[in-house]
Amino acid sequence: MQSKTCEVCKEACHKYKCPSCSTKYCSLSCFRAHKDDICERETNRRKEEKLEENERNLRAISLAKKETEEGEITESDSSERSDDEDRISKNVLDKLGNYLS
Ligand SMILES: [Zn+2]
Ligand SMILES: [Zn+2]
Repeated sequence: MQSKTCEVCKEACHKYKCPSCSTKYCSLSCFRAHKDDICERETNRRKEEKLEENERNLRAISLAKKETEEGEITESDSSERSDDEDRISKNVLDKLGNYLS
């Protein structure tokens, strides 16, 4: 019986449901009262929470991206450098070998 009552005026039987919070209401006037009084605030609060969450996610993503980018750069740098060093030391060794022989 209780669930059939309008949640706005709590007097009449509800016929409709609020599309955003599924609050039950009996008439258009009750829906308007609910939207202005409760629902708008609810949806606004939810929107703000979502925005904050999105910002936090974006910051986390950009931080993770930065870390991986830096890691990739240092990794490729060190591998290139070690390749060059290998090549140089081989050349130097060859030259030294030529000098010595
Ligand atoms: Zn009502
Ligand atoms: Zn609502």
